[in-house]
Amino acid sequence: MARIEAALARMDAGRYGLCVTCDGRIGLDRLEADPAEAVCASCMQEKPA
Ligand SMILES: [Zn+2]
Repeated sequence: MARIEAALARMDAGRYGLCVTCDGRIGLDRLEADPAEAVCASCMQEKPA
């Protein structure tokens, strides 16, 4: 559940939907697939969780 809490913390900070690595936008399709997603598609490819 830690990633859910992290997502809520980002929401509080107004950074929900932004990649924690590059500050780029996380695609809406990715957020719909996983609302707690923290990195964009390109960062996910570089650094698999
Ligand atoms: Zn990124």
